[in-house]
Amino acid sequence: MTSSTERNAVFLHEMGLGPIWTRRDSTAVGNELQTTVQEDYRAVSISDVQSAWASEEIETSITQNDMVPPLSADAHADIAQMSWDELRQAVAGCTRCGLCRNRTKTVFGVGDEKAKWLFVGEGPGRNEDLQGEPFVGPAGKLLDNMLIAIGVRRGVNTYIANVVKCRPTDENGRDRAPTPQEVAACMPYLQRQIALIQPTVIVALGKTAALALLGADPATPVSKLRGTVHQYAGHPLIVTYHPAYLLRNPVDKRKTWADLCLAMAAYGNAG
Ligand code: SF4
Repeated sequence: MTSSTERNAVFLHEMGLGPIWTRRDSTAVGNELQTTVQEDYRAVSISDVQSAWASEEIETSITQNDMVPPLSADAHADIAQMSWDELRQAVAGCTRCGLCRNRTKTVFGVGDEKAKWLFVGEGPGRNEDLQGEPFVGPAGKLLDNMLIAIGVRRGVNTYIANVVKCRPTDENGRDRAPTPQEVAACMPYLQRQIALIQPTVIVALGKTAALALLGADPATPVSKLRGTVHQYAGHPLIVTYHPAYLLRNPVDKRKTWADLCLAMAAYGNAG
């Protein structure tokens, strides 16, 4: 069993924070992890945490163009009908955009295919490209501890995916954000993953994931996207910072905890 106190301690330790959240219903502790998590989520109301936000921009910007022919309606329809195995094969052999040229491995996604929690990042970095798994290395460790803090863990009731499945790099081989064209080319795969998973809550990690899933105007300030329970295809969607951003900007870790509290409240309300 993992108590809320233990989860808070893990989160606060990993995020380098002091206590910022006190659970109000101390009797709502069950014997099973999922029961405990569900009760804890209900103990946090959305209105409790919405006030915790300040207007901060989520880092990542779309910096390069890579023209990709738009997907035909038939191609969209084909992907929308794929099984998990068909989808995996399609991504593994995909040459739909220029990111296929420099990839080592495609990064399809990882986790429970019936997960209630879906975390969506931007795209693979160097470590992910080498290993074929999303969120490995320091950013992955931070995400794993964020998961523990909300009572889940990688592979158990969680699925982790990216907007693009191949690593975007600049002319110097450094990681960059995917272009709008690359996002558009790859989104049907993520859309099909979401349709197959049917998650209870989606957490968008970073600006690229938030904009892609919400279809928001790129000029939309991220401060307007955080602190709100959005909807994606009928699923509650919360926007928070990308773990890689948090490693570079630890001052914003505290806000991530508030974002996760909002996500837990949305989870509880949906259950
Ligand atoms: Fe295909 Fe997506 Fe890789 Fe582009 S990023 S080649 S669309 S799998």
